[in-house]
Amino acid sequence: MTLRLYDTLSRSLKEFEPLETGVVRFYACGPTVYKPPHIGNQRTFLFNDLVHRYLEWKGYHVRFVMNLTDVEDKIIDGALRAGTTIDGLTAPVIRGFFEELRALGALEADVYPRATRHVDSMVALIARLLERGQAYQADGSVYFDISAFPDYGRLSRVDLSAVRPGERVAADEYGKADVRDFALWKAAKEADARVGAAWPAPWGTGRPGWHIECSAMSIAELGETIDIHSGGEDLVFPHHEDEIAQSEGATGRPFVRYWLHVKHLLVDGTKMAKSLGNEYTLADLLQAGHSPAAIRYLLLAAHYRSELNFTFDALHDARAALRRLLDFEERLRPAAPAQVDHASPLPQLARRARTAFEQAMDDDLNVPAALAALFTFVRETNAALDQHLAPAADLAAARQLLEDADRVLGILSLARQRVATLDPEFLAWVQQTLARREEARARRDFASADAIRASLAAAGIVVEDTPQGPRWHPER
Ligand code: AMP
Ligand code: ZN
Repeated sequence: MTLRLYDTLSRSLKEFEPLETGVVRFYACGPTVYKPPHIGNQRTFLFNDLVHRYLEWKGYHVRFVMNLTDVEDKIIDGALRAGTTIDGLTAPVIRGFFEELRALGALEADVYPRATRHVDSMVALIARLLERGQAYQADGSVYFDISAFPDYGRLSRVDLSAVRPGERVAADEYGKADVRDFALWKAAKEADARVGAAWPAPWGTGRPGWHIECSAMSIAELGETIDIHSGGEDLVFPHHEDEIAQSEGATGRPFVRYWLHVKHLLVDGTKMAKSLGNEYTLADLLQAGHSPAAIRYLLLAAHYRSELNFTFDALHDARAALRRLLDFEERLRPAAPAQVDHASPLPQLARRARTAFEQAMDDDLNVPAALAALFTFVRETNAALDQHLAPAADLAAARQLLEDADRVLGILSLARQRVATLDPEFLAWVQQTLARREEARARRDFASADAIRASLAAAGIVVEDTPQGPRWHPER
């Protein structure tokens, strides 16, 4: 079965075929590390993780690179305001970023290049652009000449009719009304040097523009042509448009074969944005008692090309859906083998579900359809189990199906990890409390047993009595 991906440049679904057989080169625009990410950013980062995992699931060797933007306008402003250097400002944000990625179950990238550690590659790329007549110097800065790059505007389909040659924009971020020559290198201001954001270059001391950072890091880490480049939809213009111009302007080769863009996470219908202050961070949600697995479920469950409106109701629904999967998984634990003398439908149901799951994911990573296939499987299998149609040996086929799907989704494994990360003292308390409850039950003191169960529930521990004895798990 072949994967098809929606490519923003051609505005079409394209069959995925990497440049080199079996190997995928994948670059994702990473965080701007002046402030912790919000869960909108995490939506995009988890989408990257989904792409990474699914390509590996399909058998590709994936070389996955995510950069850290650790020098640009907002970072310099932030460092100035905090009276520190850019490294001083970004170090704790970078640490927190990695912690959050781990907490949300994202697989690690092969490399996380930092812009400040790649300035040499940026200077070299700008030199190439100057040599090829795609860029020019002005007052110690260097600008990209968009009139010298005929393909400019192809990705974002921006209106070029009002562009006057030679008009320039120096800001890292600008809107479609500002289609102009953009800065590759910005002459150092006095303040830049003060915060450690000034480097030598043949055309004068300064610092790279935001867009050249990603072109240079992508080429340095993955080569001149890569397979996949991703980011949130806000990056189409100007960031990715400018990346294409810089990279292809310098190398004369195609830069990216598939452009993938994630629609925004909204709050009350407005984009969640660090600059708007309407953001929730992972830490906010964890403090409010929500689990990483439910948050991951919520952020992955909608298709990446539809907007997702964040609400606490949606988060509760995600948690309930996740719980259905976990309860089902629990039901598949081998009990005493049932005596079944007819063929069980489970292996066939599992085969069908796997095919449906893969078809959905192949269709531009359609997670909602893939989850629907899993829930159909849950329903059908539960019905078979209710009718005692499945011998214990066949439960393995069903468990295997869940495991397999979870290598892509990474949700059940994350929910399970919670037990492993519980504090050992707390774990010991849970075990002792459970033992006290068993003693109460043994002397038929059900009032005490219920009270103990309630105190466990208050601590976030759910106890379920099964024919094999009580089982417990952290609230999901
Ligand atoms: P930033 O740290 O602002 O550079 O953003 C990191 C990534 O998050 C980029 O790929 C952005 O496009 C993406 N992003 C920013 N806001 C949102 C949002 N509300 N929903 C989804 N992705 C977003
Ligand atoms: Zn980028």
